[in-house]
Amino acid sequence: MYTSEEILDAAKAILPALPKLLDEPTATQLQAQLNIHLAAQDIDQLWATLERSPQTQRWRSKYLNQVKVKGSGSQLAGDMVAQPSSLIYACPHCDYRDVIFLLGMDPDPCPDHPAAVLQRL
Ligand SMILES: [Zn+2]
Repeated sequence: MYTSEEILDAAKAILPALPKLLDEPTATQLQAQLNIHLAAQDIDQLWATLERSPQTQRWRSKYLNQVKVKGSGSQLAGDMVAQPSSLIYACPHCDYRDVIFLLGMDPDPCPDHPAAVLQRL
């Protein structure tokens, strides 16, 4: 389970990334909804909004996993460095997106196009 603060942080952090994750009308729509729910501090609705597309679900789970790693105080492997902002990679053949929060990590390949070279957005 995640705390309300973690979900609020995730919702704030995803706002600038939405145009890279989704097509423009969907990104604009989700940004508007997230802003409404952020203003109301409505955690359930924020969670539900982030659940609406596979791209935002994936982004959310990676963000929250990273928060857990940092929060647990465990050492990061090798020379991974926390990124001030996320790097987003896109499959050139479909709308698959992956996000990297730590330098030194590679994006996960697209499940439908495993040979495709993901492009950084
Ligand atoms: Zn693909």
